Amino acid sequence: MRNFQFYNPTKLIFGKGTVEALSSEVPKYGKNVLLLYGGGSIKRNGLYDKVISQLQTIGANVTELAGVEPNPRLSTVHKGVDLCRSNGIELIIAVGGGSVLDCGKAIAVGAKYEGDMWDFVERKAAPQDALPLGTVLTMAATGSEMNSNSVITNETTMEKIGWSSPYAYPAFSILDPEMTFSLPRDQTVYGVVDMMVHVLEHYFHTDGNTPVQDGFCEALLRTMMDAGSKLVNDLENYELRETILYCGTMALNGMVSMGFAGDWATHNIEHAVSAVYDIPHGGGLAILFPQWMKYNLDAGPERFRQLAVNVFGVDHSGKTDREAGLEGIEALSRFWNSIGAPARLADYEIDGSHIGAMADKAVRFGSFGNFRKLQREDVVEIYKLAL
Ligand code: NAP
Ligand code: FE
Repeated sequence: MRNFQFYNPTKLIFGKGTVEALSSEVPKYGKNVLLLYGGGSIKRNGLYDKVISQLQTIGANVTELAGVEPNPRLSTVHKGVDLCRSNGIELIIAVGGGSVLDCGKAIAVGAKYEGDMWDFVERKAAPQDALPLGTVLTMAATGSEMNSNSVITNETTMEKIGWSSPYAYPAFSILDPEMTFSLPRDQTVYGVVDMMVHVLEHYFHTDGNTPVQDGFCEALLRTMMDAGSKLVNDLENYELRETILYCGTMALNGMVSMGFAGDWATHNIEHAVSAVYDIPHGGGLAILFPQWMKYNLDAGPERFRQLAVNVFGVDHSGKTDREAGLEGIEALSRFWNSIGAPARLADYEIDGSHIGAMADKAVRFGSFGNFRKLQREDVVEIYKLAL
């Protein structure tokens, strides 16, 4: 293991009816609230009314910013920062999926910075302060509700880049499984894929002895597959929504990844595709992760064998690590296929015409990936495998 420090200050409020906690949490931060949400799903499923009624009971002054895009855009962050400044906002409340939450994080740090928030994404500056952020999550996927990460798209330069800061942790996050009932089947699938890839990105590390963490990761993956396969045919099943919601948070809040740094190359490779084609993150990962695996199998076949045996039940007797590992990769692809995830870039009508431009974006900060360092030419090969 690497030496590590664990720090996660987000208060997690989980379960049926927990939206009511807004009326006890919000007054701790102030009365002037920016309410941030997406394209309207929260109006259709009744959550907007629940949130507003909680805010009314405590006499909050609510400024609204609606229309946060999936793959949230820098221009929306700028709008939010302006609203925070002109309305003396004391707390941001982001209600939605990972996109709304990530946008809320960017507004929170942007509102306390003189320059352009994009400086943080480009690593030209680091946040020194932020407005507090509370979230009400409506989609199990990113783990943004309990981590310090955010991914923002600059639509002018066509870049989609992740950034992270200790100031980006939400102060509190409310997770009610019932608020995810209305999530359609395709988005439910993308969410399951994204959280599985978060665990898999952790799993492919080279930091040595991590038996407890391996067990956590393997249990999460088995549970996500078991509950996910049932959930896609039973979208309003409370227990399945509850399990998947909890899995999504645990996959990327630091709890299962203490003492090692996962790979994270595929997230970078996917962001470059989403930057050019604006496809759903989970859909892109379902296409690219199996290709990353095949491309890197020989960098550590025993790790692939362990995954195949402990998660996919592959019988490795009489097989090399490589052979067993390959069976695991195939089992993962079959599972994603069975729940309706895309498998090829062609499923999004993406051909090879922008591979060079996407590879340039992926290597913007140099070579990347911890299990195996990837250069630009490796990224090109992975895109080609995914066509
Ligand atoms: P999302 O982009 O937030 O939402 C996808 C779609 O689902 C939206 O159209 C949204 O509609 C809809 N939706 C959400 N909740 C719903 C509900 N309960 N009922 C009906 N529709 C609902 O999806 P996401 O996968 O959570 O977030 C993806 C973004 O997060 C990407 O930009 C990705 O790169 C990033 N990401 C962040 C992290 C992190 O750690 N921060 C990790 C991985 C990925 P409305 O807009 O109408 O609400
Ligand atoms: Fe992700």
